[in-house]
Amino acid sequence: MSAAPRIDLHTHSTASDGTLSPAELVRAAAESGLDVVAITDHDTTAGWAPALEALPAGLSLVRGAELSCRWYGEEPALPLHLLAYLFDPDAPELVAELARVRAAREERGERIVALLRADGIDVSWPEILTGAGGGTVGRPHIAQALIRAGLVATTTEAFGPDWLGERYRLPKEDIDVFRAVRLVRAAGGVPVFAHPRATRRGRIAPDELIADLAAVGLAGLEADHEDHSPAERAHVRALADELGLVVTGSSDFHGTHKTVRLGAFTTDPGAYERLVAEARGVTEVASG
Ligand code: AMP
Ligand code: FE
Ligand code: FE
Ligand code: ZN
Repeated sequence: MSAAPRIDLHTHSTASDGTLSPAELVRAAAESGLDVVAITDHDTTAGWAPALEALPAGLSLVRGAELSCRWYGEEPALPLHLLAYLFDPDAPELVAELARVRAAREERGERIVALLRADGIDVSWPEILTGAGGGTVGRPHIAQALIRAGLVATTTEAFGPDWLGERYRLPKEDIDVFRAVRLVRAAGGVPVFAHPRATRRGRIAPDELIADLAAVGLAGLEADHEDHSPAERAHVRALADELGLVVTGSSDFHGTHKTVRLGAFTTDPGAYERLVAEARGVTEVASG
């Protein structure tokens, strides 16, 4: 009997703020011994085609995205990440929301750079855009500019309170999280709440919000993630049990923009099967 399949449902490529191209990502996934990998770039499906094209034999590819969402039930609105799997990449309303959020990211990035420059910090927006290489722009790209300028040593330091974590942090116009869940379902896809309990990233969603999202179509919760403590993982599992949601685990791999390795956290095969069974078949799991 062969060993249980190894499944990593959350990774980033150069289509957003990862450092491996989509083709390099799927090759690295196969080399790491994964059987299933999901490509979940921020607010884009641009990595789907090149990942599919390069898919190594024996690896299954789940095409997805990580949607920048916001809950407007508290003030200031709470930013949240929603993983979306196997949705129709041409669903007009979803496509329009993703394009709008990508534009909002560029606008916010430019404003962050203006704040930095006003304080005499020599970073350049055109250079940051070039660094993003046409992928969805994010703070990790601004972090690289701070590293190049010798102001911080690491991405982690760039996300500290003196820099992009607080002092030079600006909000962006994200997708209302209830609308996002509905749009993903309407596009035949499956929505999973990414790192829902990651208190080290800031404020977190109350359990009541997660229950309300489950009622409108949320399918799962990511429990095993490097940003969750053991107690936070246990809390997410218990909540998922209570709400009948699927529990996932994943690396949230970003290449050299983070230290975590592919497959550092994985999803149980039974949970994966449940998620795939909920997709409406517009986008299938691709087999290499
Ligand atoms: P943004 O999407 O522009 O708001 O930036 C958030 C992204 O930055 C996340 O998706 C992570 O990829 C990355 N990130 C957030 N916090 C950290 C951190 N402490 N260290 C490294 N990367 C981080
Ligand atoms: Fe990211
Ligand atoms: Fe995330
Ligand atoms: Zn992510």
